[in-house]
Amino acid sequence: TGYRLATAAAARVLAVETDCLFCKIVAKEIPAEIVHETDRTLAFRDINPQAPTHVLVITKGHHADAGAVADADEGLADEMLKAARTIARKEGVAEEGYRLVFNTGAAAGQTVFHAHLHVLGGRDLRWPPG
Ligand code: IMP
Repeated sequence: TGYRLATAAAARVLAVETDCLFCKIVAKEIPAEIVHETDRTLAFRDINPQAPTHVLVITKGHHADAGAVADADEGLADEMLKAARTIARKEGVAEEGYRLVFNTGAAAGQTVFHAHLHVLGGRDLRWPPG
């Protein structure tokens, strides 16, 4: 088990990209208004909010997008979803409804290539999105 632990620790160190904006938020090199944290996720307010509640749930380790999170570890995507649910309740939008979005790939509007789940609520959200 000593070997396994060492491997896991090494993987965690490797899963950080020095040039990544959200890795810098995890490392506290860039400030963010953090609203929720678990062992493997961090959630903070979007700097350019599109709704009264607009929080981003990210993985602490670097994964480029939602697909990479799913590939990395089944439990990790689940942890992000559970964090989003907790945030929606804390923000008081769980009852009225809220939207969870993973923009995945440039054509879908992804601009930061460190996986993040948008939690949007507090206003009427139209469908389809633009
Ligand atoms: P994407 O377009 O789905 O990749 O979403 C990236 C999001 O990150 C956008 O909604 C941005 O407003 C947000 N964002 C970019 N830089 C920062 C930051 O430094 N702090 C918080 N949110 C940010």
